[in-house]
Amino acid sequence: MSHKGFLIAGNWKMHPDTLGEAKAVFASIARKAKSARKTVVVIAPPAPFIRDLGGKGGKAGKSGAKGNANGGRPGIVRMAAQDVSEHHSGAFTGSVSARELRSAGAEYAIIGHSERRAAGDTGEIVAKKAKQALEAGLRVILCVGETERDGHARYLQTVREQVHSVLSAIDKKLARWMTIAYEPVWAIGKSYDSAPKPQDIHEMSIYIRKTAAEVLGKKSGLDIPVLYGGSVDAENAKAILKDASIDGLLVGRESLDPKSFGNIIEYADSI
Ligand code: PEP
Repeated sequence: MSHKGFLIAGNWKMHPDTLGEAKAVFASIARKAKSARKTVVVIAPPAPFIRDLGGKGGKAGKSGAKGNANGGRPGIVRMAAQDVSEHHSGAFTGSVSARELRSAGAEYAIIGHSERRAAGDTGEIVAKKAKQALEAGLRVILCVGETERDGHARYLQTVREQVHSVLSAIDKKLARWMTIAYEPVWAIGKSYDSAPKPQDIHEMSIYIRKTAAEVLGKKSGLDIPVLYGGSVDAENAKAILKDASIDGLLVGRESLDPKSFGNIIEYADSI
């Protein structure tokens, strides 16, 4: 049976330096996305580029979200914010609100990325950010993952707490706009052979869905889309998409390489 359609998301982090470079990489990814029949492609560029790269815009608070959490029609690249403020609005110099990002054209928001957690986002802050994003009509890609794998499986507890603290803080009616990205911190930004094996990712995706079911109930919890992220490239993407029972990928470094990211999209669309 062929797959119902993956979500392939690219996190550009703080790259590239100029709008011109961003447009060039984006144009190439957009061409690939256009020919995808069932793969939803999402790019999270630096916030100042969202509007120029063709963010669809939207009124804050009005969800652009349609369909299931993998969301949207294939064909156009959807825009994501890399983070949102935990505050609604106000005197928070330098912060950007979920509603502002939605208005600039973002349809998704990455929340709880390990680089934001390392910069000080606690579980409580991550939960507030997820709430702000959902209430502004953004779909949330919530990143969870342990920093290391210990021999006593304590890492499972870390992931469990990260999932619980967000899902128990949000309005349950909005949970259908949540996707969880399993991103083990030890596998981020390494070479492709550092990524866990598809079987390990599969086990973790089951654990995450079961954990989500403890908070959301069986139906919504077990249906929650789970992505994998951490040292994905065109080499290991195939086996992960085919064998790990996940709903897609969150790709860092390789999403700035149009050829490699294009190959990942093409492969996802062929399964
Ligand atoms: C990330 O930072 O979300 C990520 C998955 O990075 P990379 O693909 O570079 O490991």
